[in-house]
Amino acid sequence: MILVLNKDISPQQDARLTAYLEGLGLTATRQLCQGKTILLLSGQTDRADAGILSSLPMVESVLPLADPLPLASRRSHPADTVVQVGDVFIGGGHFCLMAGPCTVESEEQLLSIARSVQAAGAQLLRGGAYKPRTSPYSFSGLREEGLALLRTARRETGLPVVSEIMSATDLPLFEDVDILQVGARNMQNYDLLRALGRCRKPVLLKRGPAATVQELLLSAEYILSGGNENVILCERGIRTFEHLIRNNLDISAVPLIKKHSHLPILIDPSHAAGIAWMVEPLAKAAIAAGADGLMIEVHNNPKEALCDGAQSLNMDQFADVMKEVKRRAAFEGKITD
Ligand code: PEP
Ligand code: MN
Repeated sequence: MILVLNKDISPQQDARLTAYLEGLGLTATRQLCQGKTILLLSGQTDRADAGILSSLPMVESVLPLADPLPLASRRSHPADTVVQVGDVFIGGGHFCLMAGPCTVESEEQLLSIARSVQAAGAQLLRGGAYKPRTSPYSFSGLREEGLALLRTARRETGLPVVSEIMSATDLPLFEDVDILQVGARNMQNYDLLRALGRCRKPVLLKRGPAATVQELLLSAEYILSGGNENVILCERGIRTFEHLIRNNLDISAVPLIKKHSHLPILIDPSHAAGIAWMVEPLAKAAIAAGADGLMIEVHNNPKEALCDGAQSLNMDQFADVMKEVKRRAAFEGKITD
């Protein structure tokens, strides 16, 4: 349900309305739309009576929610969203490059990778501290120690850091993480999405391996409807009948998302392929399709990596791929630094 507010509503009336809606168990997300303030109601909307709400003096009209994506769709927000993290811009013609190890393993490992990816032109360092693993017996990350190492790398290099959060209860530990990654497995963890909607940090939302583009956008809508506008989407391959590669990169998701949403969309060619040699061709495809950036896994010694070594580029390979990526992104008219 959408409430369109009267133009001359006073701050006192506004506060009374907010308290009234909260009392009904409703959350109101505020948006400015064609000069009018609108409130998108979520929560226990079945308790909201349209007749009563439209009789309130501060309410101009009450509209049913016809659009399932009132915040994520381009209809409501024609301009591209640009997410800013320090000096880095994501979306709106900028091409963003994030790279790093799948998992933070040690200070030496992380710092050497961070320095190399920075020298090659990456703008953000990505490393997992809390790792969702398919098997409970696999290495699942250094957890708090991993976050401390990311803090060190951030201080030493100045690179903003991106790391995966798996549970809302861990949020206080992620204070020094610049972008909170929601992994593919958690794309539909709605409590986590709601909690990230209440914070204001950028969220990198990865598409689930069996999720449709509409489901990805609905998950983004959860975060947006909490008031957090800093959502970045990531296509990382979906599961198909092909078994020679880890996933299938759904390249059509890029133009589809660009058409239907204003949110930036990155491609993760590393998880899409699962094979290091395929990262470069998929990265080129991502640029040609209009993606807003890439997330690439890099390791100082891929053969010994504790997680995802087969798809990780070594530092020299990454530097070569970056040269090609920057050249092609610039050719497509993207801003690369
Ligand atoms: C990752 O980014 O290392 C990861 C686990 O990716 P995904 O959630 O896409 O599988
Ligand atoms: Mn990985």
